[in-house]
Amino acid sequence: MTKKLGFIGIGRMGAPMARRLIAAGYSVTVFDPSADAIAELVKAGAQAASNPAEVSAAAEIVLLSLPTPEIVKDAALGANGLTTSAGLRIVIDLSTTGPRGAKVLAEGLAAHGVGAVDCPVSGGVAGAASGKLSLMAACAPELFAEVEPILLNFGKITHVGNEPGQAQLIKVINNLMSVTALAIASEGLVLAQKAGIDPAMLMQVVNTGSGRSNASEDKIPKYVLTRSFDFGFALGLSAKDVRLCLDEAEALGVPMIVGSAARQLLTVAKGQLGADGDLTALIKPIEGWAGVEVGDGFGSKA
Ligand code: NAD
Repeated sequence: MTKKLGFIGIGRMGAPMARRLIAAGYSVTVFDPSADAIAELVKAGAQAASNPAEVSAAAEIVLLSLPTPEIVKDAALGANGLTTSAGLRIVIDLSTTGPRGAKVLAEGLAAHGVGAVDCPVSGGVAGAASGKLSLMAACAPELFAEVEPILLNFGKITHVGNEPGQAQLIKVINNLMSVTALAIASEGLVLAQKAGIDPAMLMQVVNTGSGRSNASEDKIPKYVLTRSFDFGFALGLSAKDVRLCLDEAEALGVPMIVGSAARQLLTVAKGQLGADGDLTALIKPIEGWAGVEVGDGFGSKA
């Protein structure tokens, strides 16, 4: 088993994952257009590359954690992409790229004799740092056996199928459900606030009742009621995930009425707060329309 790995995209998720690989004894060559991101990883023991081709010249297995399917495709198959180096054997895509993106990537890599592991992750920046992510992998069983020891450094893995794209579909459904729970809980919080009910007390009751979700148990107490809004997942990336899920639903003729409403709220929040705004700030447009701020007068602010 090779101890030499490549890692492209060392952002909020990629950087802590690359660090875990270095800590586990792998030699990791990294590329990212952000010089600051590279400098931080080099301090942690990584080798720097100046493009994806240099990464795959140094490592036969390369992991990706990139924003969009288009960027993933370009890093793998474009000019100066991974496939321009002959030694590349396996690409593990940890990004959320949607089922179609994963199929295009796998086909493009297969044309170069390179294996594709479709392996999105769930669990956020905190999970990436602590090695407690939930990973879902879709690839041939022999590829899975080869990459499993690497991926176990990030958390728990389920081998969900043999065809790239299957893990991505599960991931984008998961993310649509997750953001929809956050959206409806945000509406509930604003309603409680406007009615004079302590939003923190609302969450306390919801969390022992049937309305609870990851949003009510984790994101809202930590990042909304404290008004830190620093969960670490960008509104633009969430909007991309929801688009990928709704595109797939449309292609398969499945109505997504509730999901479409969540998408509209994301579009508004992204317009007001920018694509780099934090997902947990999704509540801010609702507060603006209602003319209240959650926590105001109840001592919930940090
Ligand atoms: P991020 O924007 O923090 O990081 C992306 C990194 O990719 C940045 O460092 C950026 O400089 C780099 N990059 C951009 N263009 C590039 C290119 N052409 N070549 C190489 N690198 C490039 O995003 P993130 O939050 O770390 O998310 C990465 C992926 O993981 C996304 O697909 C996202 O949907 C998914 N994801 C994020 C979270 C989360 O909570 N943040 C959780 C699960 C999955």
